[in-house]
Amino acid sequence: LVARMRAFGTTIFAEMSALALRTGSINLGQGFPDTDGPPALLERAVEAIRGGANQYPPGPGVPDLRQAVSEHRREHYGLHYDPDGEILVTVGATEAVAASVLALCEPGDEVIAFEPYYDSYAASVALAGAVLRPVTLRPAGGRFTFDPAELRAAVGPRTRAILVNSPHNPTGTVFTREELETIAGLCAEHDLTAVTDEVYEHLTFDGAPHVPLATLPGMRERTVMISSAGKTFSVTGWKTGWICAPEPFVRAVQTVKQFLTFTASAPWQLAVAYGLRHELGWVASLRDELQAKRDRLMAGLSAAGFDVYRPAGTYFVQADIRPLGFSDGLALTRELPALAGVVAIPTQAFYAHPERGRHFVRFAFCKQDAVIDEAVARLRKLG
Ligand code: PMP
Ligand code: GLN
Repeated sequence: LVARMRAFGTTIFAEMSALALRTGSINLGQGFPDTDGPPALLERAVEAIRGGANQYPPGPGVPDLRQAVSEHRREHYGLHYDPDGEILVTVGATEAVAASVLALCEPGDEVIAFEPYYDSYAASVALAGAVLRPVTLRPAGGRFTFDPAELRAAVGPRTRAILVNSPHNPTGTVFTREELETIAGLCAEHDLTAVTDEVYEHLTFDGAPHVPLATLPGMRERTVMISSAGKTFSVTGWKTGWICAPEPFVRAVQTVKQFLTFTASAPWQLAVAYGLRHELGWVASLRDELQAKRDRLMAGLSAAGFDVYRPAGTYFVQADIRPLGFSDGLALTRELPALAGVVAIPTQAFYAHPERGRHFVRFAFCKQDAVIDEAVARLRKLG
């Protein structure tokens, strides 16, 4: 294995899901729902296969999906992207992030990301031979946020891009317009490209609005906006994502993408196009159900003795383990199957400075109520 990838090993999701299987534990680790997406959407994928959509689709993606993404961006956010040239379909948001970083960064360039960050960011930056500059999100007023001075201090002469994930995995923060304005101001001042990961765009709670960074003045022209169908439609196994960006960015990312995967699977693309046009009502009910599940898990974790942070979006709760007498989330999550028959994710896996996330553990609530209740009942024995 090349030196720049040696630090990565097996992802924490793979490790913890394997642990759940091996021990028969309840898996509140890896974030995937335990119920299927909308039946008509699933049926569309089956029909697509039966209808012969089984050969390579065009490199930029099936035209109908690019058209549906364009309509969706316009209707939800007032953003106009030309389906021919400004939209590229990818193998999930993961490939979109990797291809964007590989397309934008020279070796030695710096990329800012807020830590804790989704684990693929550091690996994508390393693959590009670039350098990750983390800016830490810390709890303040019950949510995780950044210090604008710290963000400003992270920008230097080699800074090329900033990766912005909102709603944010794993903290559940949904950046406010004011926070996004701070980011946008720095991008304009230092001519940075923003790569936004908006896979949880529809999963926000208590009416918290999701504001795409690209909607801020001057930002559309410098933003590569990424999303994916996995979380929106509860089809994480479909690995269908997309980027929306001005044409030169899309051309650059496609140049990389064509040699990673060339194109993405056809049947899912046709089904997702249908979903974006016809299933957003289903997504609204999913969001409401998830909000209730969030409250259910939070109440249970509090009763079990954890300090919990209320997420404004995503399907994860951050829990501080110190009130229970634990100090190391990695050690605890490796023990948790034996102690309680539950699997969670140690948040320190998402930090460049693991000590800053040592006492946090992430629990997923995209699970059936009975599963959440059973997990909570087991965790209550910890105290
Ligand atoms: N970004 C974030 C923040 C995520 O939580 C995930 C996991 N769904 C991804 C990207 C990956 O998305 P996909 O499965 O579409 O590659
Ligand atoms: N996005 C999901 C999570 O954060 C799972 C990602 C993965 O397994 N790579 O749990």
